[in-house]
Amino acid sequence: MIRTREIMISQEMATLAPYAQKSGESAGRRHPEPPHAFRTEYQRDYARIIHSRAFRRLEYKTQVFLNGTGDHLRTRLTHTMEVVSISRCIARALGLNEDLVEAIALAHDLGHAPFGHSGEEALNEQMRDHGGFDHNEQSLRIVERIEKKYPHIDGLNLTFELLEGLQKHREIYQPPPGSDALCYLNPSLEAQIANLADEIAYYSHDLDDGLDCHLIHPIQLEQLEVWQESYEDVKRRYPEIEGRELNAYVIRCIIDREVEDVIVTSAQRIAAAKVQSVEEVRRQPAALIGYSERLCAANRALRTFLYANLYYHPDVDQVNRRACEMLHRVFAAYLENPNLLGANTVGRMEADGLHRTVCDYLSGMTDRYLLDEYKRLFGA
Ligand code: MG
Repeated sequence: MIRTREIMISQEMATLAPYAQKSGESAGRRHPEPPHAFRTEYQRDYARIIHSRAFRRLEYKTQVFLNGTGDHLRTRLTHTMEVVSISRCIARALGLNEDLVEAIALAHDLGHAPFGHSGEEALNEQMRDHGGFDHNEQSLRIVERIEKKYPHIDGLNLTFELLEGLQKHREIYQPPPGSDALCYLNPSLEAQIANLADEIAYYSHDLDDGLDCHLIHPIQLEQLEVWQESYEDVKRRYPEIEGRELNAYVIRCIIDREVEDVIVTSAQRIAAAKVQSVEEVRRQPAALIGYSERLCAANRALRTFLYANLYYHPDVDQVNRRACEMLHRVFAAYLENPNLLGANTVGRMEADGLHRTVCDYLSGMTDRYLLDEYKRLFGA
């Protein structure tokens, strides 16, 4: 038996929730393409992202700790895989389109600069008078402009729904070009899930890595409800475990609790809103995917804790600051001598301007490429 695209589309129609985004109802791509015999539109998006250069580079980009610091610490790639896994779980439980949610999650961090958030801040500073730098906007730029895979086309020519999913934190969303639909306030539920799964993943794994590196001590976490509730639950069930074994299992329980809370809360909100289609989801005044109020407040406290105790911990911050000084110097060197840029990049300079072209080039680098480039330009 061969499962054709038509069969997959009819299975989606028969098995997904009415408010799921079905691939057969996609608004399509900027450059129309003939349909594939054996893959739906979102399965094609998924493959395009996996096969992109920007995706492969995620392996050597910082999540929190400078890439290469520890072999089992998260990188931008392993973070992305955790977001995919959490997204898929929530989408499946809610009867939503797993292919779409996975593709959005895979692409959500493509635009991250080397050296994590410090790198992003440094680039934003360099671009202050030239439109700024934001990793979410950069993810869109990569898939729409920078990747080169198809003759005569810029970018990956992804579907409208995938691009919608990458427009995070917008106040207003634009309908697909050429459609007579009105602007709207929220993206598909699949996009909302990928967005929230990103948070669930980093809350839990940054805590995990922080403990693993001894930058955070479990005693500090007693004040946090998110930690304490799972910790007490684990201690009740396994009073004998401690140390790394205990921490790892508490983290596992935190993720589980977050995911369960989002599934139950979102299902209630979807039912209360009585949405019957993805168009109705888009017209809702507020997102339907979310945490319960209690967990939302607890997560806010966790986030504050991570900013205060991990992201700017001297051991993390000093390394990142040094890395950013390098980034500033390399940026300045390219501005002075654009011939140092790669040949493909120079080709975009006339249309995009010098600063944006340098920013695209630098933000696309992995941590180690930038360190090598620094050595090449400035010696040790
Ligand atoms: Mg992320």
